[in-house]
Amino acid sequence: MSTLAELIEDLVTANRILATQGIVDSFGHVSIRHPDNPKRYLLSRSRAPERVETGDIMEFTLEGDPVDAKGRKPYLERFIHGAAYEMRPDVMSCIHNHSPGVIPFGITGRKMKPVMHMCATIGHEVPIWDQHKKFGDTDLLVTSMAMGRDLAKTLGKGRTSLMRGHGAVVVGAELRATVYTAVYLELNAKLQMQAESMSKKVKFLTKGETQKVAATTSMANINRAWENWCRKADRPFRDIQ
Ligand SMILES: [Zn+2]
Repeated sequence: MSTLAELIEDLVTANRILATQGIVDSFGHVSIRHPDNPKRYLLSRSRAPERVETGDIMEFTLEGDPVDAKGRKPYLERFIHGAAYEMRPDVMSCIHNHSPGVIPFGITGRKMKPVMHMCATIGHEVPIWDQHKKFGDTDLLVTSMAMGRDLAKTLGKGRTSLMRGHGAVVVGAELRATVYTAVYLELNAKLQMQAESMSKKVKFLTKGETQKVAATTSMANINRAWENWCRKADRPFRDIQ
């Protein structure tokens, strides 16, 4: 079992990796559920992920109230995280990002589906949350639990959801696996766009193939990527089984 301090270091590393992999820029965030209290989560203060340090990590209630802010300003969109943890007891980590490849799929009605084996963990079909349906004209930010819960409903039992005109949310049972899915969600978007520009008859992974690959994606596989991404992000690698 990892200690709280080790998990916080991993969370800092996840911020840096998502930045170096182009999944977040100056915006976007990643959280973990508190390992000792399922009704709390850990998320950086409002800061560009590439700059996040250990002292930036704050603790929140699922409703998004800081437990001890110490003067630190939280992200406006932290409700995405709390609502996902509230609805899904299996979710231990959550990422919100605006990576460029996913945006066209949120606005064109073109369904995103896995095109290669590495991308199977995104799920067989990626749903799209349209904030306008329930909340009308907004600034498109998820600034309340009501909005977060509506998004979590679209996410359902899956690991990914797109957000129209905004970005995506990715969840998982483990932080490193969630980062892995976010990286391959962006790659899938790029590959699918290339493939669909070449042919109208793209053959996606079947539902059965998607499930089989996702079920056999081991922690060893994910750690192989994680170690490489740690080196690129200039962060120490901690091996876990
Ligand atoms: Zn956002």
